[in-house]
Amino acid sequence: MQRHPMYDDDTETVRDQLRRFVAEEIEPNGEAWEEAGEFPLELFRKAGAAGLLGLGFDEEYGGAGGGILYYCLAREELARGGFAGVRVGLMVHGIGLPPVLALGPDEMKKRVAPAVLAGEKLICLAISEPEAGSDVANIKTVAKRDGDHYVLNGQKMFISNGMRADYYTVAVRTGGPGMEGLSLLLVEKGTEGFEQTPLMKSGWWTSDTATLYFNDCRVPAENLIGEENAGFRGIMNNFNLERLGIAATIVGSTKCIFEETKHYASERQTFGKHLREHQVVRHKITDIAMRIQAMEAMLDSAIWRALQGDKAIPEIALLKAFAATEHEKCAADAVQIFGGAGIIRGSKVERAFRESKILSIGGGSTEVMKDLASRQLGI
Ligand SMILES: Cc1cc2nc3c(=O)[nH]c(=O)nc-3n(C[C@H](O)[C@H](O)[C@H](O)COP(=O)(O)OP(=O)(O)OC[C@H]3O[C@@H](n4cnc5c(N)ncnc54)[C@H](O)[C@@H]3O)c2cc1C
Repeated sequence: MQRHPMYDDDTETVRDQLRRFVAEEIEPNGEAWEEAGEFPLELFRKAGAAGLLGLGFDEEYGGAGGGILYYCLAREELARGGFAGVRVGLMVHGIGLPPVLALGPDEMKKRVAPAVLAGEKLICLAISEPEAGSDVANIKTVAKRDGDHYVLNGQKMFISNGMRADYYTVAVRTGGPGMEGLSLLLVEKGTEGFEQTPLMKSGWWTSDTATLYFNDCRVPAENLIGEENAGFRGIMNNFNLERLGIAATIVGSTKCIFEETKHYASERQTFGKHLREHQVVRHKITDIAMRIQAMEAMLDSAIWRALQGDKAIPEIALLKAFAATEHEKCAADAVQIFGGAGIIRGSKVERAFRESKILSIGGGSTEVMKDLASRQLGI
């Protein structure tokens, strides 16, 4: 069945390429990488060479073009492969790079973007802090101007690719309290006074997550991304993009759950019948299909609006909240259908269930999304 008319022969060609990349490069190794807690850096270079990292980014800076539609397509198809940790790790540039391209000076864009999109360098986004997750305006990491440098002091928390990145797009306080005093700075790995330690997680094992420490860390003033004290708007615009990307990811992941569960229920027999022949089981799988339809419709509507130049802030917030909540239900139902096999490590369904919670927290929690949407809708 035709999805939305914006998906055409070109998008389907790219979709096929993405599926091939997943089948050839990720599927054969994903399980072993999960257990090892890391995937090789070489995968970035392969993804860069295949044009995958550049999807949605301007050709002028080494991207493959296609805008927001291709940005989302890449995330949906990678997630469909069922190895979320690999997908997250590989695509962190999708949140770290856009502020550089939207607000950074030309020299910075040319220096950073082509290397990142080729998979030769890694960039990440460092907004969250121990006391500022949902409450972004409460950021405490200070960047004090000293001659032609900023001197950074503070901590960042839960930063994806925080151990392996070369570039860090960091939110800092350059002015007074609240949202008006925030700026974005590009910090490079190896800068004196900048350290990282790893964090262990319940899921996404192959994606590294870190705490960052800045102790009198001197960063050149020309590494400012955008204008001083005007960082909050850039952060919020980036969140909107991130949330749309997360929603696309959730659609892909839910499709993976659906396919795995449908297959299992067609193979496994109880009481002399295949599982899917029990109406209760069949309806559970049908409910997953129903939720996918709803998520897809909301996602495509949001992408379409974004393509028309509408920021669609409340729609994207509600999409992210809805998709994450429904994904959790789908993952739980899928494990129920797998029975004991859904609890034992090593299946895509077991991993999706274990990793479903983060989707309701990262990039703006469900509660915060509803709060944002309610304010925007005047509720
Ligand atoms: C695996 C992982 C990867 C991450 N990657 C990154 C990254 O790359 N870069 C980055 O900057 N951050 C990253 N984060 C951080 C993530 O964005 C935050 O965890 C998220 O924004 C929530 O912040 P918090 O954890 O501090 O929770 P808190 O803000 O402390 O919230 C705790 C709970 O309270 C609820 N809550 C808070 N405020 C309200 C309110 N006003 N009304 C109702 N309920 C409320 C929340 O919904 C949540 O349920 C990552 C997190 C994880 C777990």
